Amino acid sequence: MTDSNARPASIVVTGAGGFIGGHLVAALRRERGVRVRAVDIRPLADWYQCFPDVENLQLDLRLRESCQRACEGASDVYQLAADMGGMGFIETHKAECMLSVLINTHMLLAAKDQKVRRFFFSSSACAYNVELQRSEDVAPLRESDAYPAMPEDGYGWEKLFSERMCRHFSEDYGIYTRVARFHNVYGPFGTWDGGREKAPAALCRKVIEAKETGEHRIGIWGTGTQTRSFMYVDDCVAGIRMIMDSAAVDEPLNLGSHELVSINQLVDIVEGFAGIKLERSYDPTAPKGVNGRNSDNTLIKAKLGWEPSTPLKDGLRRTYDWIHEQYLARRSGRRVAL
Ligand code: NAD
Repeated sequence: MTDSNARPASIVVTGAGGFIGGHLVAALRRERGVRVRAVDIRPLADWYQCFPDVENLQLDLRLRESCQRACEGASDVYQLAADMGGMGFIETHKAECMLSVLINTHMLLAAKDQKVRRFFFSSSACAYNVELQRSEDVAPLRESDAYPAMPEDGYGWEKLFSERMCRHFSEDYGIYTRVARFHNVYGPFGTWDGGREKAPAALCRKVIEAKETGEHRIGIWGTGTQTRSFMYVDDCVAGIRMIMDSAAVDEPLNLGSHELVSINQLVDIVEGFAGIKLERSYDPTAPKGVNGRNSDNTLIKAKLGWEPSTPLKDGLRRTYDWIHEQYLARRSGRRVAL
């Protein structure tokens, strides 16, 4: 075997300083023969997970030259970088969310220029038509429900547009692209405070705060009856890898759990971990997103013979314990990533 044949594949993960990207890098670096390049706009000290045996780059991927640098010599690209957060962020920063189109456009162009073999794009369940998500007792969303298009304003439109770009880069330039629509991902090493956190992390933090301060009250956004499914991050990473590797997946695919719960039920579970019951107050004017959303997993089961299956209680326990550790570390003056 020649030297060049022996060179392992070079895999790029963008958004690697963030939640899902960090877990993806952690999984990839454990594989033999794989060289990983991790890219994010944040300073390395602020990454949730940063590994010394990986090439770590701080780049602003809104810029075309940064995307060229990120894709240099790469065979596979997992594009997870986006300016995003939970409902509190995306409902109030629509322009910023839409500007992620610069990242996706320049990453696709760089992938084309650098002759990247395979390109993965992290889309979202926010790409689905909001009209189908008015009821808490929602029918799980099938992939075809994204059209006619009426996605979440701002963030969802950008995701749907970038999905279409992947499709047309594939058709017109022959780039192998894969798209997954993630449904609410949660787990350790993700945002848990500061305004971008999502419901599971926010509720864990609020319950921990109530327990630690002895003030047994919690504020809940919306009526608490809104429903969602939540996918544990390990399932998300496993699904990303399978979708990228599958010859059978040529259209955007749901990647989510189908275990539907209300926000009130989510609070019940977290209160159970803390061993307390809190007085709940509801804020119907706070950002809360659609009334109901669940993932129809018929297609992913047909294509991959698999679907996310970590029970919510198990994944949430691990998330709660990690946030509790972070909370105590911050209280004792240690620097923690938010
Ligand atoms: P995250 O915010 O933790 O990670 C995104 C990362 O992208 C951040 O570290 C951020 O610094 C980086 N980034 C932002 N702008 C950048 C730029 N200009 N250049 C380089 N890096 C930049 O979010 P996450 O939860 O890990 O989400 C990863 C991807 O999955 C995103 O595309 C997101 O839209 C998508 N997604 C996530 C969820 C979820 O529930 N977490 C649901 C649906 C879709």
